[in-house]
Amino acid sequence: MEHITEGKLFKNVIKNIESAAAVVNCDKNVLTRLRQPRRSITVSVPVRMDDGNVKVFTGHRVQYSGTLGPYKGGIRYHQDVDISEVTGLAALMTFKCSLLKLPLGGAKGGVKVDPNTLSRAENQALTRRFTTEIAPFIGPQEDIPAPDVGTNGQTMAWLMDTYSQQKGFAVPAVVTGKPIEIGGSLGRVSSTGYGVIYIAEKALHTLNKSLKGSTIAIQGFGNVGQHAAILASELGMRITAVSDVSGGIFNGDGLNVKDVLEYIAKNKVLKGYPNAQEITNEELLVLDVDVLAPCALDNVITGKNADKVKAKVIVEGANGPVDADADAILSRKGTLVVPDILANGGGVIVSYFEWVQDISNYFWDEEEINTNMRKIIVDAFNRTWALAKEKNVGMRSAAMGVAIKHLERAMLLRGLYPR
Ligand code: GLU
Repeated sequence: MEHITEGKLFKNVIKNIESAAAVVNCDKNVLTRLRQPRRSITVSVPVRMDDGNVKVFTGHRVQYSGTLGPYKGGIRYHQDVDISEVTGLAALMTFKCSLLKLPLGGAKGGVKVDPNTLSRAENQALTRRFTTEIAPFIGPQEDIPAPDVGTNGQTMAWLMDTYSQQKGFAVPAVVTGKPIEIGGSLGRVSSTGYGVIYIAEKALHTLNKSLKGSTIAIQGFGNVGQHAAILASELGMRITAVSDVSGGIFNGDGLNVKDVLEYIAKNKVLKGYPNAQEITNEELLVLDVDVLAPCALDNVITGKNADKVKAKVIVEGANGPVDADADAILSRKGTLVVPDILANGGGVIVSYFEWVQDISNYFWDEEEINTNMRKIIVDAFNRTWALAKEKNVGMRSAAMGVAIKHLERAMLLRGLYPR
């Protein structure tokens, strides 16, 4: 499995697992097992493009651990997807579900493609063929995909339809993050972003600060960043900057989120937004704010820029945005970093609710969903904070430590098959 271990994200994850395992004194055989995924599936995805030619894309589904329940995790469409990145992300899902005490294992999928270059018809064809290729390995009791970077509710609708066509009846529980009309859950679209803000509030409290009046800069203005901004502004935070692939916008008095959302709905990107100053993504990351929320891709805060970061709290809306070198620097500076597996857990919590609702054919109201999600994520924060204090380690090691302990108990109880 050499090629799997080559990527930067995977290496970072393994480093985190190893240091956390030492903190909680994890069983050495358990640790040996946790270094490798259970199953990796790589498939060719041939698609007839609109010009009549066939292109073959590469897709992966990595099922990292099934100890706690069916595999769970998103599907990413991005030009940088590779087997190592998908494996690292699948490992993160494993520890995320364990930390949150969800009865789910960890997985991730991805197709190496820039979805912005695809027409709607091409995207649909790609999604249906990828679903068909991984269909033998997914299902409501086996593995339940969800959206991630570059995919959305429409992608999940095509996945659900393709799987259901093969079965001959509707199987909504095969995927989460679906539109409401076909078995999706209220509150799923906003869940990751809302969770980021619930966690920002908890982190600020530990510094005797409140959300109201605190400043926040959000890197990435996709689904996660947008909903984080919406809740942050509702709760009285001052959003001084946001950014997307086109660059960033800054307004020291606070951006009007509603206005920015209207602009982006019309113009697709933030560039050219009139009521703010233009800044780069790099400049956004080093702004003097209370909270920095990287909500885009991995490895954006590294050994190169970490010492310039001025935020007091970093809340990882994305998976893997702070690398191991940056972690060491930030810890020396006293920056409170709330790791991805905790900070962006709101998404998979509501995915879990969606799956439960689909299986039981009974749907809850939005308030119930948001309240229950908050309870789970805040409880995970409190357990993580307690371990961080007890062992005098950072939140990343503590969150991973709590997750490893829960998984370790489950693995030892189930035992190794056949012996
Ligand atoms: N892709 C999201 C994540 O990384 C959600 C996964 C899910 O809901 O299964 O947590």
